[in-house]
Amino acid sequence: MRPRQADQITDRQPGVAGADAVTGTSAAARWAMPFADQPRYIQLETVTKCNARCPFCPQNEIVRDPARMPAATWRKIVDDTRGWGIVYRPFLTNEPFVDKRQPEIVRYIKQHDPTAKVEYNTNGELVTEELAHALLEAGVDIMRFSIDGLSRETYEPSRVGVSYDHVYERVPRFLEIWDQEGYRDRVFTEVRMIEMPENRHEIDDFKAFWQPRCSEVVITNAYQWPWTGQKREDAVAKPCLKILDELFFYSNGNATICCWDVHERAVIGNVTDQSVLEIWQSYAAQHLRGLLDDGRRDLIHLCSRCNAYAGFDFSRFEVG
Ligand code: SF4
Repeated sequence: MRPRQADQITDRQPGVAGADAVTGTSAAARWAMPFADQPRYIQLETVTKCNARCPFCPQNEIVRDPARMPAATWRKIVDDTRGWGIVYRPFLTNEPFVDKRQPEIVRYIKQHDPTAKVEYNTNGELVTEELAHALLEAGVDIMRFSIDGLSRETYEPSRVGVSYDHVYERVPRFLEIWDQEGYRDRVFTEVRMIEMPENRHEIDDFKAFWQPRCSEVVITNAYQWPWTGQKREDAVAKPCLKILDELFFYSNGNATICCWDVHERAVIGNVTDQSVLEIWQSYAAQHLRGLLDDGRRDLIHLCSRCNAYAGFDFSRFEVG
């Protein structure tokens, strides 16, 4: 599958100045963001499914073929990047443990590559005791559990379809195994909650419950995915921090610049017929970086409806 041409992922309008058509840079670039020479973080959509139907997440809009990434695809991504010091996240807009292959994937990544790390974000419902042992023995490095409430009353409306009882039984059990079987120094564990008006009153009790059980408790803010109500005139004329050193692969091998690209609006290549490095250095990738450095999100189909980093001060990256 060939990568899409740059004009298929940009919203260039006649008469609008933008990046140079060949180099992807502009003589009038206003920022020079520190893009890495190769990715440091790689996410793999090994399956497209989730066990939850959270109201804030567009996951249930995904229709992608195949629903399960072939082993040859995820193995190639790992093989292409061995020794690069990558943090691999074997999930994208899905729940990783819907895929029963995860312990095998961790083992494959960690095999013969002491520089590799594996990190999961999970809602925790499917992390049984058996899976907990399998993941820890396979060498997982970071486990982040997203649990948006302490009580059933606040948790269930936010994580629709996920069993509160399973989460509050299985996540503490995972952390018990992690603590009692000698993984505390080797594996980082985090429990996080998105702060919302509905759960704000529980924050202190949430911390008091989880902090003694894990490495860290984090309270995060809700964010808005691109194309969820933003209008063209809302486009933020700023560069982006999200794409400096990360690369994201869908189940079909396509690569995108952004983890929020649920609907493949900014595909820059496909790993079944390109190497990961070729994709990272591709014309399409450089073109999009150039447009973002010009503050021209409005010219990129995906980014034209994104208000991320609207309040961030990019002045230290200004070049002209
Ligand atoms: S501008 Fe928004 S949509 Fe575009 S790469 Fe950055 S975070 Fe993603």
